[in-house]
Amino acid sequence: MATLEIKDLHVSVNTDEGSKEILKGVDLTINAGETHAIMGPNGSGKSTLSYAVAGHPKYQITSGDVLLDGESVLEMTVDERARAGLFLAMQYPVEVPGVSMSNFLRSAATAVRGEAPKLRHWVKEVKEAMTGLDIDPAFAERSVNEGFSGGEKKRHEILQLGLLQPKIAILDETDSGLDVDALRVVSEGVNRYKQSGEVGVMLITHYTRILKYISPDFVHVFANGRIAESGGPELADQLEAEGYVKYIGKQEAAS
Ligand code: ADP
Ligand code: MG
Ligand code: MG
Repeated sequence: MATLEIKDLHVSVNTDEGSKEILKGVDLTINAGETHAIMGPNGSGKSTLSYAVAGHPKYQITSGDVLLDGESVLEMTVDERARAGLFLAMQYPVEVPGVSMSNFLRSAATAVRGEAPKLRHWVKEVKEAMTGLDIDPAFAERSVNEGFSGGEKKRHEILQLGLLQPKIAILDETDSGLDVDALRVVSEGVNRYKQSGEVGVMLITHYTRILKYISPDFVHVFANGRIAESGGPELADQLEAEGYVKYIGKQEAAS
């Protein structure tokens, strides 16, 4: 069973004004079978956390560690992390003109599984996965994310999730830009994938509404580059009622 451990993680990014520390000591452990919601105001560093764990080169880890099943992933490339079982659905999925969705998915599956999926099985597998997410099969031949609406991009992130079957999935604002119907379809996709009980999910979100569909076991409030408070699902209800003001105030007062 997989475990992701984030230990006292400090992350900086290079800006025009020099290096800026964004994550200021994040501690978080996610075990297989658990869903952790990370909630926080815009600009608090949630996406930075997801990029740092996935291995985006722009984000420098200045101290701390990220361990998958007890082994540090910090020296691994993005590809190696994916093979080890880490998956990131990005807040802003990138467009890849000239590469069809079906080729992209097959390459990704080949990289993660270590061998190319047999074509006949693969076609069936992709078709079923697309149907489950209400994605028109015609999308398979379109360039990755090119001209996709926000909601279509998010569905494709979850399509990848279902096909790649990672051990730890980080979903960065998968709910943003979705209407109610798309939110339900995408959430059902995530829940199907969670059913095995063998995967850990980090669900980053700004709003509580997705948590009505995907129930978290733990809720963490993220403010000013660290986790300000952790609790159970009731914490999300409290945030819905009170917002983030108290955490932003508390953090600023402390620094
Ligand atoms: P969130 O996802 O919580 O909205 P982000 O991680 O996107 O927050 O951003 C946190 C802070 O780090 C913001 O102030 C943002 O401007 C800054 N930041 C993030 N990525 C970069 C980058 N590549 N270059 C410069 N600043 C960045
Ligand atoms: Mg943001
Ligand atoms: Mg973000």
